[in-house]
Amino acid sequence: MPGTRQPLDKLLLFGATGDLAQRMLLPSLYGLDEDGLLPADMTITGAARSEMSDDAFRKFAKEALDKFLPADRKEKDKIASFLKRLNYQTLDVTKMDHFTRISDELGDTSKGMAIFLSTAPSLFEPTIKGLDKAGFTHGNVRIGLEKPLGYDLASSREINDAVASVFPEDRIYRFDHYLGKETVQNILALRFGNSFFEPVWNAQGIDNVQITIAETVGLEERAGYYDGAGALRDMVTNHMLQLLALIAMEPPARYDKDAIRDEKAKVFRCLRQIAPEDVPHNTVTGQYGPGAVDGQIVKGYLDELGKPSVTETFVAIKANIDNWRWQGVPFYLRTGKRMAVRRSEIAIQFKPVPHSMFAGRGGLLQPNVLTIRLQPEEYIQMLIMAKEPGLDRDGVHLREVPLNLSLDAEFAGTRRRIAYERLLLDLIEGDQTLFVRRDEVEAQWAWTDAIRAGWAANDMKPKSYASGSWGPSTSIALTERDGVTWQDD
Ligand code: NAP
Repeated sequence: MPGTRQPLDKLLLFGATGDLAQRMLLPSLYGLDEDGLLPADMTITGAARSEMSDDAFRKFAKEALDKFLPADRKEKDKIASFLKRLNYQTLDVTKMDHFTRISDELGDTSKGMAIFLSTAPSLFEPTIKGLDKAGFTHGNVRIGLEKPLGYDLASSREINDAVASVFPEDRIYRFDHYLGKETVQNILALRFGNSFFEPVWNAQGIDNVQITIAETVGLEERAGYYDGAGALRDMVTNHMLQLLALIAMEPPARYDKDAIRDEKAKVFRCLRQIAPEDVPHNTVTGQYGPGAVDGQIVKGYLDELGKPSVTETFVAIKANIDNWRWQGVPFYLRTGKRMAVRRSEIAIQFKPVPHSMFAGRGGLLQPNVLTIRLQPEEYIQMLIMAKEPGLDRDGVHLREVPLNLSLDAEFAGTRRRIAYERLLLDLIEGDQTLFVRRDEVEAQWAWTDAIRAGWAANDMKPKSYASGSWGPSTSIALTERDGVTWQDD
């Protein structure tokens, strides 16, 4: 464990009664506790507006664990012991006098405290003010912020300024849960733990990169948030650009917070801003209509929402990185709801061989494709050309065959943790490597704000697509006019 890690004895969780707390945060904290990874004497204080006693909050947390933990992880004794760590404080973060209550509840925080804000970003500023007033911003306090960090660059700066007015950057932990995923961290192992990819990991070796995050779900219970956000803000500004940066960055010299984040930030500085006049050509927006997903008939977005809306539920973008390594290599990003399948993956298509010796004998070659599948399965696959067995009397028959590394199978004996487990533990122990730095997050917003401005300038409205498809047909045209096909099967 790096020497910089300093565990603490208090965790203060704002938004403790929310959906994220129930589905992810409480199960993650339990998972860490179950494995003996939380500091022995660490208490967890939940805070939210709902009136609740400590016991009522423990009951609430137990119900969340019952509902969201897999059956084989529900150990009665360990759950009981975890619940003993919990207590609760009713508090409205917009009411400054309420902060004295947590001050009384928490007592001495000099041994260190981690705070996590799992509330709407509009509440971050008042929360920070209240924390400052209560004296919870001293040198032994770290703060974690759930995404989204604002709504656009201006609001993101406002939040960052407010947080920076009381916490230095080295005590601010901006969460992007994709960075907590094992497969995402595996991108680093694949690229920088093996020698054979790096020499071809550039414009000479790679033809194009495709990043897809496809969901089959529709609005679920998130209408209030999602309709004001849309796919660009919800997925591209954070997860997709982080994936792009990990694929595109130069090799960091060390596995640490500065080296890795410096390299990602450099990628964002080289990301070509899409000019308003180029936005219609380089981006596609869509909104799902009715259709069928997984054999079920589903409603369109507007029917689900119950009112008119021009919010995009799909976006596809052709991005370019203006540096030596990536000159002329398109990065295609695509994300949507109610898509044909649930899938997050990165597909890297290599350049074709410069000359095919098989052409005269009928042998057809396909370019190699490296697929990094993040979900639902976790695997890395390389498609390579192989000769079909035979005497070749009517020509050489070549076929793509997969070279598969199933991470699920290879590490079958190792528990796959929720991404938040890793990130919460890093917050508690003080390791910022997998958190997003201010310059990164602001560069991400600047890039997607320019796209949104281009949509407004060109009066671009989302095109309807059938639920259960891969988005509007213009998304296919986005790549096909470059001679590239989305990797869809
Ligand atoms: P949520 O279910 O609406 O919960 C919001 C939480 O904030 C509740 O605990 C609520 O407490 C508390 N809260 C609201 N106003 C408050 C106030 N004035 N003072 C103190 N507490 C207040 O939201 P969520 O889904 O958990 O999401 C939390 C954050 O994570 C949001 O920014 C969301 O965009 C982000 N996020 C969520 C997900 C997800 O899957 N849910 C995924 C990614 C990001 P009371 O209900 O007790 O008032």
